[in-house]
Amino acid sequence: MKSSTTPFTALALAQQQLDALDASLLRRRLKQTQSACDVEVKVAGRLLKAFCSNDYLGFANHPRLIAAMAEGAERYGVGSGASHLISGHSVAHDLLETELARTQQKHIDDARALFFCTGYLANITAITALAGLGVGLQAAKQNAGISIYSAKLNHASLIDGVKLAAAQTKASVHLFDHTKLAALNEMLQADSAAHKLIVTDGVFSMDGDLAPVADLLAIAEAHDALLIVDDAHGFGVLGKYGHGILEHFQIQSNRIVYIGTLGKAAGVSGAFVCAHKLLMECLIQKGRPYIYSTATPPAIAHTVLASLHLIEGEEGQARRAHLNQLIAIWHQELQLDHWQISSSMTPIQPLVLGSNAAALSASKQLDEAGYWIPAIRPPTVPEGSARLRITFSANHSTQAVRELIAELQKIEALVYISSETKSV
Ligand SMILES: *Cc1c(COP(=O)(O)O)cnc(C)c1O
Repeated sequence: MKSSTTPFTALALAQQQLDALDASLLRRRLKQTQSACDVEVKVAGRLLKAFCSNDYLGFANHPRLIAAMAEGAERYGVGSGASHLISGHSVAHDLLETELARTQQKHIDDARALFFCTGYLANITAITALAGLGVGLQAAKQNAGISIYSAKLNHASLIDGVKLAAAQTKASVHLFDHTKLAALNEMLQADSAAHKLIVTDGVFSMDGDLAPVADLLAIAEAHDALLIVDDAHGFGVLGKYGHGILEHFQIQSNRIVYIGTLGKAAGVSGAFVCAHKLLMECLIQKGRPYIYSTATPPAIAHTVLASLHLIEGEEGQARRAHLNQLIAIWHQELQLDHWQISSSMTPIQPLVLGSNAAALSASKQLDEAGYWIPAIRPPTVPEGSARLRITFSANHSTQAVRELIAELQKIEALVYISSETKSV
C-alpha cells in the first residue's frame, strides 16, 4: 500500500490554514525548555531571563516541593488508574480537598472543594454542570430559561465552558464589560430567566486587573444569580495568606463558586472548584469532564498540599511581600514614551503595543538581549491589542527588574522608530 504522496482534503486545508496564520503574523511557535521552570531558563542552549511564566511565587522548582513529589510517588505510585468515581480517588486527593476548602471557609458557607486535573477542565465542568441545574425548570416549562453572563475578557477556558453549556442547555449568553457594571445590572433587570450565572476571571489574565467582585456579588444577589469567579492568577498571590481574591476583598457569600488553579502560583498542576457543598455534590454527580477523566496522580495532590502549606506560611508571605516590592519598583521606575504602562497591581504587567508586527519585533529584540517575553496576539487578546505580557516571580531580584526596565526603555525607542519608518 503506497499512500505517502496521495494528497487529501484535510492536508490541503491544513496548509491553507497555516499559510493564513503566517500571512497575518499569527503563527505560533513552540520553544523547548532545557531546564526547570525558573527565572533563568535554558532554551536552545542559551540561558534566558524569563519574565513570562505564571510561577508567581517561584515554587515550580522549589526543593521542598521536589521532595514532596518524590515522597508522593513513593507512597502512592505514579498513576491513579481510574476516574474519581471508579477507583481513582485517593486519600491524598481527599486531604488536599479538605485543606483547599478550608482556604475559602471564611468566604463561602458550607464550602466543599473538588480537585481537578487542570483549570480548563474545572471551568468546563463547573459552568456546564451549574448551568445544567436549570434544565429541570425548562422541562417543567416554568419561567423559561437559563442565562449566562460572561465577562468579555474572560479566559478561553471560561469562554469554551460557556459555549458548551449553551449548546447543552440552550442557555442564552450575554457578554459584559467588567468595568461597566451598570450595563450588566440593566441586562439582568430585563432578564426573566429563572436560573442565571455570572462568570468572570478574578484577575484578568492578560491585563492583570481585578474583577470588581464585591459589586458583581451585589448584582448577583439583587438578581438571584450564581457568581463564578475563576481566580487562576489570584490564588497564591492575593490576600495575606494567599487564599486569593475573596480573601483580598474580604468577601463572604454562599452564592460564589470559587475556582483556583494550582499550576500557576502554586507551582504544581491542577485546579479546584470550591462552593456550597450542595452545589459541589451536583458537580460530582453531573460534571461530565470530572466523571470521565482519569484522576490526577495522587502524588501530584500530595505535592500541591505541600505547596498550599508554603503559600499560607511565612515563606509564602515573604514571597508575596517581595513580589509587591517588584511591582512597586516597576511602577515607580519604568518610563516609556509610546507604550502604555498598565495600572495593574498584580504580577501581570502588560505593555500593549497594538500591532502584531510591533509586538513580535519587541519580543525578538528582547530575545536578542537575553530575555524571554513572548508576543501575545489575538485571539488571546482583542484585535489590535497585541502585547508583551511581562510577569514577575518572587525569584526575580530587584536588580533583575531594574535591568529589564532599562532594556525595555532602550528597545521601545528602537521598535517605535522602525514601526514609524515602515508605516511611511
Ligand atoms: C491558565 C488559566 C486557566 C487554565 O488553567 P490550567 O490549569 O492551566 O488549565 C483558567 N483560567 C484562567 C484565567 C487562566 O489564566
